[in-house]
Amino acid sequence: MEKILVVGAGFMGSGIVQVCAQAGYQVHLMDLQVTNTDRALRDIRWSVEKLSAKGLVREPPQKVLARISPEKDLSSASEADWVIEAALEAEELKAGIFQELDRISRPETPLATNTSSIPITRLAENTKRPERVLGLHFFGPVPLMELVEVVKGEKTSAEIFERGVTFVQSLGKRPVRVLRDIPGFVMNRIFSAALREAVDLVDQDIVSPEDVDLGMRLGYGWNAGPFEIADNAGLDTCARIGQTMRALGVGHLAPSSNLMERMVAEGRLGRKAGKGFYRYSSEGKRLPWENK
Ligand code: NAD
Repeated sequence: MEKILVVGAGFMGSGIVQVCAQAGYQVHLMDLQVTNTDRALRDIRWSVEKLSAKGLVREPPQKVLARISPEKDLSSASEADWVIEAALEAEELKAGIFQELDRISRPETPLATNTSSIPITRLAENTKRPERVLGLHFFGPVPLMELVEVVKGEKTSAEIFERGVTFVQSLGKRPVRVLRDIPGFVMNRIFSAALREAVDLVDQDIVSPEDVDLGMRLGYGWNAGPFEIADNAGLDTCARIGQTMRALGVGHLAPSSNLMERMVAEGRLGRKAGKGFYRYSSEGKRLPWENK
């Protein structure tokens, strides 16, 4: 059975672990914070049981969960056939992880990153195998979203890129091939342009987040509006993506206003904090704010 190591047990890492285990892979999950690993395991159990009750997971939940092992460090990289890094969106931190993964894992092991905005090519420079580094950009919540962007870094080999496509398909996901390593890849550039405009309009008191989301649902057929998506993704992550976009010279894709940064400073991180552009009940039901 092929072994996967997922680094980072947050919103994305836990979802990636779950879909890998559901697809039959043996998965190691590593996070610096044991409390986050514990929370991820609880979330995964809850989600697998729910999907199983709906008939969407073939095997008994126990069998899926038994394939997941929590780890305190990166040593299991030595036996991994694939590594997927899904730690915090910070370049220095990811650079350190890639250096360590390069040292510990077998030289032939592909190293993938789930980064939203850091160039694959720059992360690959931290390894002696840049041809084996690629982007596998999942969308959250991972168990429910079918899309994964497979991103080619400047030095990613054609063989590893195609293996990335096949691997994504083996998880029951649909790959979109991003053939050049441009800032924000493809889907985030398009989404960021919409979110930038939406955030700026709300910060100027021209419209409420609820009305923007309603408008995008009714007018453009989106399944969820930009603020619903941002709250689900985490406003800290969205704010960091905006900062990275500015630093990479595509500041036109980041909001002009610092509304999200101000909200993050107030602890309004989105759904995970129970408050963001919306408030959330303890059962996770979305509620409007009286004012932004
Ligand atoms: P998160 O904040 O929920 O989780 C990040 C996790 O990384 C935390 O549990 C943290 O303890 C852990 N971590 C920090 N340093 C670490 C280290 N050195 N080693 C191991 N673990 C470490 O963030 P997230 O939303 O899961 O995002 C993770 C990555 O996925 C980011 O690169 C983000 O840009 C990307 N991404 C996020 C979304 C989204 O919707 N949130 C979508 C696509 C991609």
